[in-house]
Amino acid sequence: MLSSPDRTELKKMAVEQVDQHADEIVEIGRTIWRNPELGYKEKKTAALMGDVFDRYGIPHRDGIALTGVKGVLKGRSHEGTIGVAGDMDCVVCPDHPDADLETGGAHSCGHHGQVTALLATAIALASSGVMEHLDGDVQFIGMPAEEYVELDFRKRLVDKGLVDFIGGKASWIALGELDDLDLYLASHSGRLDGRLVGIQRGSTNGFIGKMIRFKGQDAHAGAAPHLGVNALQAAIVGLVALNAQRDTFTEADLIRIHPIITKGGDLVNVVPADVRIETYVRGKTLDAIWSADEKLERSMRAGAMALGAGVEIGTMPGYLPQRPELAVPVVTDLLEENAVALFGETGVKRGDPSEYGTASSDFGDVSHIIPAARITTTGVVGAGHSKDFRVTDEHAAYVAPAKVFVATIVDLLHDGAGLLKQAKASYKPVFTAQGYVNMWKEAMGRAARTG
Ligand SMILES: [Zn+2]
Ligand SMILES: [Zn+2]
Repeated sequence: MLSSPDRTELKKMAVEQVDQHADEIVEIGRTIWRNPELGYKEKKTAALMGDVFDRYGIPHRDGIALTGVKGVLKGRSHEGTIGVAGDMDCVVCPDHPDADLETGGAHSCGHHGQVTALLATAIALASSGVMEHLDGDVQFIGMPAEEYVELDFRKRLVDKGLVDFIGGKASWIALGELDDLDLYLASHSGRLDGRLVGIQRGSTNGFIGKMIRFKGQDAHAGAAPHLGVNALQAAIVGLVALNAQRDTFTEADLIRIHPIITKGGDLVNVVPADVRIETYVRGKTLDAIWSADEKLERSMRAGAMALGAGVEIGTMPGYLPQRPELAVPVVTDLLEENAVALFGETGVKRGDPSEYGTASSDFGDVSHIIPAARITTTGVVGAGHSKDFRVTDEHAAYVAPAKVFVATIVDLLHDGAGLLKQAKASYKPVFTAQGYVNMWKEAMGRAARTG
């Protein structure tokens, strides 16, 4: 009987298959880049994922929270399950040279690279034959709607019961779709000053979503403004009142509130009677977020009161902060070791637990429920969410992260999945999936009573 390949050989087999399929992987990356889709609308991306899974004999389910996709490869035994995930959605960036002409969508957050890397991981694991030597399953997750945008549209989906939450991962959690995972592996693009891969050990802000509607009285703007109640002026007074309080936000809480007016009136010669604001209230902890939210609400009510307008303030579940105590060093250490083995010390930005990002991701929510780890990928230039963002090194963006993933998956699932079990044992969840859903329900109930 032939002896089974050892861990080093298995890693080599899987990594070689990433290289073997590099051209195909780059082509996948280009195709998704050219077909940017906004959250819960990622139909072409889902179809492309399904095609790749079919090509490699990977069973999959589609339409999970409208557009999500899940493919599965089974190991020789089932000691645990790892999910390799990618966000499928784009942002709106109409001035981007590669923006979709109809929607203005563009992949200037680099999520196309996440999907490409997870598909590359699937292709390499399926082609290499390593799964028959591993003791656990791997799920390939196309996750919808990471960007928390188009709140009116998303709220309609929630109200109609088509999804449970504004964000894709929360909806998957509510559906129980992450219940069978022992680890969630993900990536996000960033800039790493010439290095190929970064290991994330830091934390990020969380936030709640706010939809604010000022209601005035319409009237002829020239002939009879005195008969109207100007909802736009009410909103402006509200925003000025909010800005007057910014120095009461402490540095420790890292509050970020960045409202936009999504509707400023209907016709220029009519006193605006319906004015709408969307914003996040971001911060380092939920307590800090709720405290800042009180100031936001007070300010908006003050604006309405000054003008004699009405105001409706809606609060929606946002994303949880990524917290250092929820990290799983067993996994991040493996990711780092494998990245250094693949690309050398100079190719890797090692993770630093003191790093803090004031943006947010629903990756934070996942990390409250199951062990989760994320790498930073690169090969891009230009600021995220801007018209200048583009891929300049396709191998760095799509191929390199897949190599780190396959090597780490082999480590975690080899020999009875001992390291995966160790990672799981080192992690204490804050919530069960149901506990997470209940937490938001209770918080929204409180917000409605005090709002
Ligand atoms: Zn983004
Ligand atoms: Zn992003």
